[in-house]
Parts: sequence; structure tokens; C-alpha cells
Amino acid sequence: MCYADLGTGFYRNEDKMTETHDKHDFPTRRNLLAGAAFGAATLAVEGLPRQGFAAGKKTGLEDPLKMYPAPPFSQKLQPWPGLQSKMTPRPDCGEKSYVGSGRLKGRHALITGGDSGIGRAVAIAFAREGADVAINYLPEEESDAQEVIAYIRKAGRKAVALPGDLREEAFCQKLAKEAHDRLGGLDCLVNNAGYQTFQEDLLDLTTEHLDQTFKTNVYALIWLTKASVALMKPGSCVVNTTSVQAYMPSPGLVDYAATKSAISSITRSLGKQLLSRGIRVNAVAPGPFWTPLETTGAQPLEVVNRFGSGVPYKRPGQPVEIAPAYVTLASAESSYATSQIWEVTGGMT
Ligand code: NAD
Ligand code: MG
Repeated sequence: MCYADLGTGFYRNEDKMTETHDKHDFPTRRNLLAGAAFGAATLAVEGLPRQGFAAGKKTGLEDPLKMYPAPPFSQKLQPWPGLQSKMTPRPDCGEKSYVGSGRLKGRHALITGGDSGIGRAVAIAFAREGADVAINYLPEEESDAQEVIAYIRKAGRKAVALPGDLREEAFCQKLAKEAHDRLGGLDCLVNNAGYQTFQEDLLDLTTEHLDQTFKTNVYALIWLTKASVALMKPGSCVVNTTSVQAYMPSPGLVDYAATKSAISSITRSLGKQLLSRGIRVNAVAPGPFWTPLETTGAQPLEVVNRFGSGVPYKRPGQPVEIAPAYVTLASAESSYATSQIWEVTGGMT
């Protein structure tokens, strides 16, 4: 099975993270207002949620193989961390379709990587289920993030934008506190931000590369969970994002797959440990999903443009198709579930 089959990928070595922003700067009120206006314009174009789950579908009983675009795609590569707005087709994060039913009423959630892809779909779903939502993302992703902020507000919920780099422990501590204070509480943390770089040859795997993958995917998850749990009351929960790579690692994703195995393991151990505080910890394991992460040099263009062809569905999942797993795990309906991992992989087992 090739990397494309697993929905994982390659990464251009020359693409390095640029740090041109003050990582601890949260957005000004002016920025937020400007962003909200932009988001509102987007909403006007894309319309309000419709009844039923799948965008543009009529009966609610559609063939899942045919519900969303299948390869070949005509996506172009874009610089990391990438923008959802630069994707063709644009990922479906439930903007037009997700309809909530109060499953997270009165909850307060912090979602990392909430600007795009899976995190964006989770943010929109959580807001429409009644939660106030804070999102973290990188400063370069402000335009995607402000669209999400507008969707959360349109759902009638409080929205807090908290950009910054998770690879710093001090920022993770500040992020948890800021989310808690500005939301008026914190009872759900979704650790979803992730970094993936393909490296074919172990001899080319640099320490810088390892640091970025492990700090983003593992260290930050532990730092942020630690800071959040200290502020959480019994009944709260953590939902992590692992990957099918945790179980079926690709040869060129030695570091990324290892971090996803670590996240699965952390989910299982921490779930047991935090039960004494009344806090549940679970994870979702995506297969191939159509998101910016896949288009930013994580894999060669020809792989991107046949993304998802190797799974039984013969297409990638759209973020809206995985958001319900996060909603269910976050909801008090899942009160007996902890240390669990929910695979949503397009039929890969
Ligand atoms: P995405 O690009 O939309 O989201 C990833 C997000 O990570 C970015 O939006 C960015 O905000 C955040 N991020 C990365 N480095 C960061 C840093 N240093 N500080 C702060 N934020 C940072 O892509 P996605 O596919 O929705 O990714 C979400 C999660 O899903 C990731 O953990 C990824 O590993 C996982 N996943 C994705 C797939 C897939 O096929 N798309 C498959 C399995 C697992
Ligand atoms: Mg993004």
C-alpha cells in the first residue's frame, strides 16, 4: 500500500516554518471585527445550514460512495501551513449542512487547528450543538480562522480566536488560561493540530524535522492537556486526533506515524489516569481526509490529486464526515467512554 492509499504523504525539504509573527499575540478587537465582516460575507454567499446532514443532498439516504468528490483532483501545492480557501475543491466542513441538536449545550471548548480541515468542521459542529468555542491556529492562517469565527457567531455562540505556535510550552499554558477566561470556563479540549512531513530516507531525517513533528504532535498535546486539566471540572473531556498511521505506518513517515502511536497510547493511559478527576480522554483516528495538510507539500502533487483512491470508498473523506465522532465523544452521552479510539477511515481496517 502506498502513502496515498493511507492518506498520508510527502513533504518538500525546502519548506521550513517561517516565524514572522509574535507568537504570543492574540488578535485585536479590530482584527476580529474585520474578520467577522469577512466571514459574514462568506456566509451570505454560502448560505445557512439546511435541514439534513449532507450538503446539497435531497433525501438523507444517499450512497456514501457518491456523496463527495472523488479523484482525480486538480489541486495545486501551496506553502505550509496552507489555506483551506486555496483548495479545489474546497473541503466540506459542514458550513452549509451541519445541523445541531443541542448535544453540547452550555459547553466551553478549545480546539487546536480549528481554522481548517477537521478542526474547522469540529468547531462548526460544536457551535451548532450549543458550545462556546475558542480556536487556536497559526498567525498565517488568520483568514481561514476568521471564517470559522464568523460561523461560530452565526450559530449564536461565543467565539474566541487565539492564534499562536503550540511548540512553546509557555504559549500552551497561556492558551489554556486565555480560553478558560474568555469562554467563561473550559470543559472540552480538542487536541487536533498536527504536522506531517514525508522523509523517504532515514539518513535525511533531520533533528529539526523531528523536533517540529514531535513538538507539534506530542509535546504540545501534553503541555496543553496539562494546562487545561488544571482548569477543568469533573464532567469535562479531552478528544485527541490520532491517525490510521498509528496502526499502519508508512515507511516514509517514521516520525509522524510514531507521534500518532504516541497520541493513541497517551489517550489510553491518560484516560485511565484522569478518570479520578472525572475527566474523560478519547481520540478519533482519521483515514484520508481532504484538508490543507495534504496540499502543503506533505506529498507530491500527483499523490494529492489521487488522494483517497486507495481506500474502499475510493475517495477521501470530507471533514464534515468526521465531525460527528468528535461531537459524540465530547458529549455527556458518552459518559462511559474513556481511553477509546474511534476510527473513521473510509473502510480501511
Ligand atoms: P489542517 O491543515 O486543516 O489542520 C492542521 C492544523 O494544525 C493547521 O490548521 C494548523 O493550525 C495546526 N498547526 C500545525 N502546526 C502548528 C503549530 N506549531 N502551532 C499551532 N498550530 C499548528 O489538516 P487536518 O488534516 O485537518 O489536520 C488535523 C489533524 O488531523 C492533524 O492532527 C492530522 O495529523 C490529523 N490527520 C489528518 C489526516 C488527513 O488525511 N487529513 C489523516 C489522519 C490524521
Ligand atoms: Mg489550517
